[in-house]
Amino acid sequence: MTLSKKELDALKRQIEARCAALQAELHADADKARGETYADLAGGVADEGDESVADLMADIDNAELTRDLAELRALEAALERIADGSYGACIDCGLEIGFERLKVEPGALRCIECQRVHEKTFAHPERPRL
Ligand SMILES: [Zn+2]
Repeated sequence: MTLSKKELDALKRQIEARCAALQAELHADADKARGETYADLAGGVADEGDESVADLMADIDNAELTRDLAELRALEAALERIADGSYGACIDCGLEIGFERLKVEPGALRCIECQRVHEKTFAHPERPRL
């Protein structure tokens, strides 16, 4: 790993701040999904039409929640890699991912070249590696 201590500290602070923001957002979204969706949207006259709108809203909220949660998991994994010293190395080729790329995408697992190959190979973004 060739990131300097200063760069690593900066990334760590950035990740921790983003994690805190995501956690706050997830709590707010969960409260909103619980509160609004059924109380306000499906509440009152519950005919078929109202229910499907409520279901749609729940789906949208869930998609947002899923995305936020995936980002949070990626960042938590990044913090673990910082702790064990493996952070900053591409998981495919082992070369350095680079500070500039990590600043933009601190949860990145691959260098830009391997990421390109990976996205071409797999239709879906991250999958668990066996
Ligand atoms: Zn690579």
